[in-house]
Amino acid sequence: MSKYDVTSEGFYGRFGGAYIPEMLYPNVENLKKVYLEILNSEKFKSQYKQLMKDYVGRPTPLFYAEKLSSIYSTHVFLKREDLAHTGAHKINNAIGQVLIAKEMGKTRIIAETGAGQHGVATATACALLGMECHVYMGEVDIERQAPNVARMRMLGAEVVPAKSGNKTLKDATNEALRDWISNPEDTFYVIGSTVGPFPYPDLVARLQSIISEEMRWQLKEQTGKELPDYVIACIGGGSNAAGSFYHFVNDEQVKLVAVEAAGHGLDSGDTAASIARGSEGIIHGARTMLMQTDDGQIIEPYSISAGLDYPGIGPMHSYLAEVGRETVLSATDDEALQAALQLTREEGIIPALESSHALAALPKLKFRSDENVVVTISGRGDKDMATYINHLKL
Ligand SMILES: *Cc1c(COP(=O)(O)O)cnc(C)c1O
Repeated sequence: MSKYDVTSEGFYGRFGGAYIPEMLYPNVENLKKVYLEILNSEKFKSQYKQLMKDYVGRPTPLFYAEKLSSIYSTHVFLKREDLAHTGAHKINNAIGQVLIAKEMGKTRIIAETGAGQHGVATATACALLGMECHVYMGEVDIERQAPNVARMRMLGAEVVPAKSGNKTLKDATNEALRDWISNPEDTFYVIGSTVGPFPYPDLVARLQSIISEEMRWQLKEQTGKELPDYVIACIGGGSNAAGSFYHFVNDEQVKLVAVEAAGHGLDSGDTAASIARGSEGIIHGARTMLMQTDDGQIIEPYSISAGLDYPGIGPMHSYLAEVGRETVLSATDDEALQAALQLTREEGIIPALESSHALAALPKLKFRSDENVVVTISGRGDKDMATYINHLKL
C-alpha cells in the first residue's frame, strides 16, 4: 500500500471519512462492504470493459496537438474524453455504478444533478441497463438547464424538482438523501464525482482510473515512454482529475496539476477555488477543503462553468495538495474562455468550459522542449455554445 492510498476507513490523511446521519449508515456500510469485491470480480470487469469499448467508444484517443506543442515549446497531448459517448468522462462512472447497483440486486437508481451532466450520464446508463431512474434537481437549475432536462426525460428518467432552500444542487442532494433513507432496500444512489461519504470518493476514482490506465499505454505507443512529465486536469469535485492522476500517483517524477475555477478572480468573492480560498470542514459527508464563512456557512461558489461550480473538492485532492503531490493552479473565467478559443482555432476542437480551465494552465507553466504534457479534455463544448456566443461575441 502506498502512502497516497485511501485507508480502509476512507481517509486520505485526515481528509475523507464518512460523516453521515445515523439513518444513512446501513446504506453506506452495505456499499462499503461489497464495492471492492464487485469491482474486482471477473463478471464486473468483463461487463464494464465491454461497455466501455463498444458503447462508450473507449479507448478515447490520445491526440498529439502539434500547434499547441509549437506555441508552448513542448509536447502537448490531449486525452479526448470529449469523444466518449454523451460527450464527457461522467459516463465512465455512471455505467460502473449502475452495474454495481444491479449486482447488489437494486432496481431503482437515484441521483442528483446541478448542471444536468451527471443526470444525463446516469439516465443514459439506466436506459441502457434497464433501471428505473429518478434525478433530483433544484427547481432553479431545471429552468436554467432545459436541454439536459429534456435529454433526461427522453431517456426515460423522472426529473424530480427540489423546491427547498435556494432550489439548486445542495437542495437536490438533500432530497436525494432523504429518498435513499426512505428506500434503503431497492435503491442505489449514484454520486457523480469523487465526493460524498466513503466509499464514494474511492469508488468514483477507481471507475475513472480507466483514463490514466489508457494514457500509460497510449504514451508508450506514441513516445516510447509510459510516463509523461505533466498531467493537467480541471477540478470541480475532482473525478476527471482523479481518473487522470490515478495510475501516476506513485510515479513521483510525474507532475500532477489540478486546475480550479477562479471565477472572476481568487480575491473577487466570486470564485469556486475550494483549495486556494477554502478551509477545512465537512461537506456531503466528507472532511475536505470547502468554501465557508468563519462560522461554517457554505459560501455559494461561482464559475462561468457549471461543472466546476461546487463549494467543496474531493478529499483525495485536499490530501494530495496538502502533501505537495499535486500542484493546484486556478484559471479565471476569461482565461478559460481564451484557452477555449485557442484550442478551437489551433486544433479544431471545441472543449467544454470545464476542460478549458485545464488548458488555461498551459501558459502558466514552464516546460522544457523535450517534455511530454498531457491535458485531459474532460468534455466537449456543445453544451456551452450559448456561453461562448455570449462572451466571445460570435
Ligand atoms: C462535471 C464535469 C467536470 C467536473 O467534474 P469533475 O468531477 O471534477 O471531473 C469537468 N468537465 C466536464 C466536461 C464535466 O461535465
